[in-house]
Amino acid sequence: MSSFDFGTCDSRADVMNLASMKAMEITQQIRQSIGALKTLEAMIQFEPGFVEGNFHQIAPALRRTYKGIACLALAKYGVISTVDPPDPNSALVGFPLLHLLQQEARDSILSGEAKASTAWDADASTLVVLHPIFAPSAARVLPSDEWTYNGRNYSRDCSLAAPMDELHPCAFPGVVHPSGNLAHFWGFAMLLANFEDVADLEGLKELEHRAGGWVAAGFTHFAWRLSDAENPARMLECTLMTQISMGSAAAYALVGVDAAVPEIGLRWRFDLVPAVGWQASSDWWVTALVAIPVTLIFGVGMGISVIASLRKRTLDKLNVQNFRFDVLSKAVSASVEALEKFQFPLCLVSVDDFLKCGAYPSYEELRNLGKHVWLDSCWDAMGGDYEDSGILLLSYEGMSEGTDHQDSESAFDKDGDVYKAMVTSIRGLKKYGLKFNWVWSQYSCMPQQNSIQHQCATNSIAGYCSCFTAMLVVESRKGAEQHTFSSSFASWSRLERLCFVTCQCLGTDSMKVFRYTEQGVLKKERVDRSAVEFAWDILRGSFQCCTTYHADGRPCDKQRFVGAILSTYWRLLAVERAGGGDMASQLVKVLRDSNERYFPPTFTYWSETHPLQLELFAGLLHVAHQMFAEDSAKVDAERMIAPGTGLRP
Ligand SMILES: [Zn+2]
Repeated sequence: MSSFDFGTCDSRADVMNLASMKAMEITQQIRQSIGALKTLEAMIQFEPGFVEGNFHQIAPALRRTYKGIACLALAKYGVISTVDPPDPNSALVGFPLLHLLQQEARDSILSGEAKASTAWDADASTLVVLHPIFAPSAARVLPSDEWTYNGRNYSRDCSLAAPMDELHPCAFPGVVHPSGNLAHFWGFAMLLANFEDVADLEGLKELEHRAGGWVAAGFTHFAWRLSDAENPARMLECTLMTQISMGSAAAYALVGVDAAVPEIGLRWRFDLVPAVGWQASSDWWVTALVAIPVTLIFGVGMGISVIASLRKRTLDKLNVQNFRFDVLSKAVSASVEALEKFQFPLCLVSVDDFLKCGAYPSYEELRNLGKHVWLDSCWDAMGGDYEDSGILLLSYEGMSEGTDHQDSESAFDKDGDVYKAMVTSIRGLKKYGLKFNWVWSQYSCMPQQNSIQHQCATNSIAGYCSCFTAMLVVESRKGAEQHTFSSSFASWSRLERLCFVTCQCLGTDSMKVFRYTEQGVLKKERVDRSAVEFAWDILRGSFQCCTTYHADGRPCDKQRFVGAILSTYWRLLAVERAGGGDMASQLVKVLRDSNERYFPPTFTYWSETHPLQLELFAGLLHVAHQMFAEDSAKVDAERMIAPGTGLRP
């Protein structure tokens, strides 16, 4: 990757992007918390008595759902009437908002919008939000009342005789309710939150450590500060920031973004600076790429265009979210397109040639002998001579035994045991009445010496699998590891199984998976629903590369497989949409119900020195589901093509 040199770049812009992204996360978190007030409003408009009577059941559920909230309250007629969690000292019940927060409360009612209070007399770490509620059942004029709060007497005289003045607000203009009727002021829903919770202090602390997985301009450790523009006393910062501010050297100039939740009038600034100060970091963009699922988009040409647009977009500091969405949807499109048009051709070798090799041939050996045929798309495979004559997926399931295979690259299958087992089992398939003219095996049919070509072929495997007629798994106790840059045989075999059984179980043919055991027994495998679900569990646990701490510094197999898994998933969704049977719909349900299990958003990449949290499916699945929904809304002819998913009569 080091050959793509874009020269020096503005590292500040890249750190600024990180600051924007973090600020956006905080905004979303605060918006999410405010969501609790909107929910309360909707419930009160519908049935205020029910909400008041069951507030201590409703509020805890809201607090669990809309994180970050310390306390929820109702203030009927503008006086705090009930608080959850219950307030043992009654420090809040009876608080007259219309008297003590007069201006803010009135502004909020007149604007009809929620407002973060700056006048609330609490420590700066508390965020108080008032949300006015208008209900069709509320009376136009508030009832007269008298009560005591904090040792003082308060009253509201709204009898006809009383003067309507600022100090005794009794009526406010109504608003038009969605039902068409006029709705009057009922009271407030309120939330009190610890600013540290809504700003996700824990998440901010991750910026200080590499373990957070944040990388910008090649920097992995940051000092940060979050300050409220309206309320300077409300500020969160890390210890290092305090020291930096006192030093104020140019090497530590802060970059920051202004952020806001305008709907409640909250504005703040978020500042960042690399913990080591600004210094040259020439390979920052390589590191930045690690943060997006680059293995997925490294299709022909595509990796380069994404890198180029990443370069261009670093200057566009406010659009990180859009940029991310862009990259992710490109990645999803690339995965879907790979089902039809392979990123690397499907290479096949004839059964006769394979059986005559005398040893397990590598891709490069067969290529040099001119023994490959090349198919660019699944239509070539389906329409040509290949479908009728049968393509066998030959999968080698090497299992690591531990340390007794310290062999070098050339030593793989030196004694030819694996190859002999393959030859015997391919011949053995005849007794099942199956005839194959072609073989595909990753070691023989995928480039072993060019990492980009290898990744392109990996991204195409779901497409390849829809062309295969049967799968033969040859198991062995030796040679689990493969000694080139590519994935280990053990993890490969699992990926092949996942893609093949998902593609095949959705067709009309019964599944043709065979296994040649270590003991030399050839048998047909039963692939039922639970076996397919088990195959989808591929990303749980560790691969061979993980157990050796990715010593070569290359991507983890989990990263390499994201595109293939996504393609397979899309194809499955398309089959289900086309009415493809119980197996497909049950599988879709299982995968959707346990999203994070089958599509982990992140994973821990262990290197020899330290763990790094990297993205896997973060955001990707959401984008894929959104794109699939959009695709489904189109007429058949305009949908993205997922070959072989059409319903057969
Ligand atoms: Zn790994």
